[in-house]
Amino acid sequence: MSKVFSFTPDYQDFVNAKEVIKGGSGYCISLVDGKEVYNKEKDSCLPDEIEHIYPDYSLYGITDTAYGFLSRGCPRGCEFCHVAAKEGKCSYKVADLSEFWRGQKNIVLCDPNVIACPDWKELLQQLIDSKAKVNINQGIDIRIMTDEKAEMIKKIRVDSVHFAWDRYEDKNIIIPKFKAFKEITGWKARKTSVYVLTNFNTTLDQDLERIYTLRDMDYDPYVMVYDKEHTNGSDPVRKLQRWVNNRKIFKTIKRFEDYDPKRG
Ligand code: SF4
Repeated sequence: MSKVFSFTPDYQDFVNAKEVIKGGSGYCISLVDGKEVYNKEKDSCLPDEIEHIYPDYSLYGITDTAYGFLSRGCPRGCEFCHVAAKEGKCSYKVADLSEFWRGQKNIVLCDPNVIACPDWKELLQQLIDSKAKVNINQGIDIRIMTDEKAEMIKKIRVDSVHFAWDRYEDKNIIIPKFKAFKEITGWKARKTSVYVLTNFNTTLDQDLERIYTLRDMDYDPYVMVYDKEHTNGSDPVRKLQRWVNNRKIFKTIKRFEDYDPKRG
């Protein structure tokens, strides 16, 4: 039994097994004095030969998609993220694509920060060579983007890629990186979304500045609300989230102050 977040309930249904083993970030990471701490006793790592076995996708009736990690860990250690506590504060290669992909049409890549991995070039090349449709389902770290990385990402068959602009203070580094990525790929907004973390350490004005700047650079911002379960529906960040994340509304109503949730 596994889960990602500690605040979500355990799987409630009956499991027909002699023993249930729990593991994963939802069980083994806890907040101690505001810091995420990994508790090995509460985790259950798989034996190495199982961790690296080709997945039995038929258990879930999956025929055309391969899921997996080529790298783990992230050097950033953002305070609001548990990747560093769970996988380590550096990115390292854990597999070749052939470990979990055997010609399926689609690949879902779950790496937290693949372009921070020292083997990024080899790993991106494996994704290009697969010619499969790739869904990189975590963010790509725009702050360490280079022309060479962007050129390679452009060659991967992706529907879209996701970035993040979580820290307002990254402004001066991040804006030129976003502009350069657009120039190289020529990808439109719908192919390049950017998570914008709110309710963590930014003001509403700083949230709006990031949102407008991203829109002006032809990126699709997507608002994430930190600690959402402790906010209520009337909180300004919740209103901001409804406005931005509803693409139709965001395209029609250009300014946040003109958005009235009661009118939809
Ligand atoms: S860059 Fe992303 S994956 Fe890495 S620590 Fe920050 S939020 Fe987590």
